[in-house]
Amino acid sequence: MSWSDETITELTKLWDAGFSTSEIGRRIGVSKNAVVGKAHRLGLISRPSPIKRIPLPPPPKMVAIGGRACSWPIGDPRKPDFRFCNSPAMAGKPYCQEHAAVAYVAPKSRNTSTEDAA
Ligand SMILES: [Zn+2]
Repeated sequence: MSWSDETITELTKLWDAGFSTSEIGRRIGVSKNAVVGKAHRLGLISRPSPIKRIPLPPPPKMVAIGGRACSWPIGDPRKPDFRFCNSPAMAGKPYCQEHAAVAYVAPKSRNTSTEDAA
């Protein structure tokens, strides 16, 4: 497999868009392993999504009144305008009320198509 500039550009674009390695491979016509290897060599390992893959910096030292500040990441950690929410966090939670609602959303509907995994 030789990587043309075009293929590399496409890989980078799809990677940044958050596609899975197998999906990227399918789209540019290489194996998943080739995508992983190339992405690693290109230094594409930190991805903007999903959020749980982002290595979180330690919580900010500046603390909100009465306790912790919300450590919900806002923006892209690779960009200079990345920051934490910093609103006062809920008691016992690392996030403010708004972000706790997003972080701890209960899986309500289990009728999504996972049944064909039998
Ligand atoms: Zn927040």
